[in-house]
Amino acid sequence: MSAGRIAVVGGSIAGCAAALAAARAGAGEVVVYERAAGGLQDRGVGLAVHDRRYAELEAAGYLDPAIPWVRLTSRPWIVRDAGSRAGRRVGALPFGFRSYNWGSLWSELRARVPSSVAYERGTAVERVVPGPDGAVLQLAGGREERFDLVVGADGYRSAVRAATRAATVPRYSGYVAWRGALPEADLPGPAEAWARDEAATVAFPGGHMIVYRIPGPGGTGTSANWVFYCVPDDPAHTLSLEAAAGLPPSRVPDGLTAQHRAVVDAHFPPYWQELVRRTPKDATYVQPVHDLCVPRYGEGRLVLVGDAAAVARPHSGSGAVKALQDATVLEHCLASAGSWAGAVAAYDAARAPAGRAIVDLGRRLGRAQVQATPAWAALDQGALEDWWRQAADGGRDFGGRSLGERGGEPRR
Ligand SMILES: Cc1cc2nc3c(=O)[nH]c(=O)nc-3n(C[C@H](O)[C@H](O)[C@H](O)COP(=O)(O)OP(=O)(O)OC[C@H]3O[C@@H](n4cnc5c(N)ncnc54)[C@H](O)[C@@H]3O)c2cc1C
Repeated sequence: MSAGRIAVVGGSIAGCAAALAAARAGAGEVVVYERAAGGLQDRGVGLAVHDRRYAELEAAGYLDPAIPWVRLTSRPWIVRDAGSRAGRRVGALPFGFRSYNWGSLWSELRARVPSSVAYERGTAVERVVPGPDGAVLQLAGGREERFDLVVGADGYRSAVRAATRAATVPRYSGYVAWRGALPEADLPGPAEAWARDEAATVAFPGGHMIVYRIPGPGGTGTSANWVFYCVPDDPAHTLSLEAAAGLPPSRVPDGLTAQHRAVVDAHFPPYWQELVRRTPKDATYVQPVHDLCVPRYGEGRLVLVGDAAAVARPHSGSGAVKALQDATVLEHCLASAGSWAGAVAAYDAARAPAGRAIVDLGRRLGRAQVQATPAWAALDQGALEDWWRQAADGGRDFGGRSLGERGGEPRR
């Protein structure tokens, strides 16, 4: 296997991590094909990594302590209250996460990919043709390349996944996420309304908005990163899969924009209303929430990593973690198995159950926090903790499953 050729389709977070994994495992040649022609550092907004998952991924060599981050510790749940500008806190849950700027995380991973790996930007894989001892990639422009192993890191609409027998497709959950980022300097006052280490959650009937600070672009300053979930009240606003990577405000249906404004006006305490209203329109976008989970992470000479294999709803706090864990385990399987078939089977056995578990958790949390919300204002600290234990199935997998226990053993 050490002389083998490995292709990685997609050069985002999962793709860079998988290329690193393949190179570390000793592949003879590794080529990444990324459809986007430019750098990806401007994509996305913020993401959060659970402290325990961070520790595992740093030990495995997939996260670097030098990437700028913000410490989060607590998640207060807030409802509108006539007497309070910042709202009434019904209770708070522990929230031991580090928050990152998506672009900084990707840039650091990209820089870690060794120079021996060829990273071809602006190269789309049009079709994957699996064979008994490898796979052929058909690239834009008519070029064809044969590889011993193909890693699908090509996201929710994966061409590699489409070449597998199951060819699973993402399913719309029935609700959307609005995302926005407001620079710290533009936050409304007073400063004490919201502590630096809090992931504040404004709860309303039929949804919630979580907001936490993230490092600014390039690690300079901080911004308030917010994600607002609600079920569109008009079925005509069901957004297509085309929109899954994010719709800019100009393409969001007017009725959906009006619904967002109406919920903020009716249910948000004044401080949080202002925070949303001050966010520049061009710093927001809408993402329909999807579920996806393949029955198998590996088939023949194809393996899937990151969102190509499983897309869990963002409430599980595990999208980037899951992608990095997949790469960690892939490295272990490639380095320790005696054959390609053995490596693919070991990877599938380790990661398919972890993917299923986290997608299930995302669905449970989506139901509890968006699709069938409790009477938030009637909760107190004890009732909030009970509700969360039930919603999160004990909370054990929140932020991603442990690598060591059930997700596959990392190499170091
Ligand atoms: C805008 C955005 C915001 C997000 N916010 C969060 C968050 O707050 N928290 C969190 O945990 N997760 C978040 N995620 C999800 C998280 O980033 C992903 O779960 C994680 O990074 C793994 O992504 P991936 O690399 O598998 O897929 P992607 O990031 O979708 O990357 C797939 C890559 O494959 C490339 N590609 C696709 N098809 C082809 C092809 N045929 N040929 C060549 N290249 C191809 C694409 O151009 C893309 O670069 C967000 C994702 C996006 C897109």
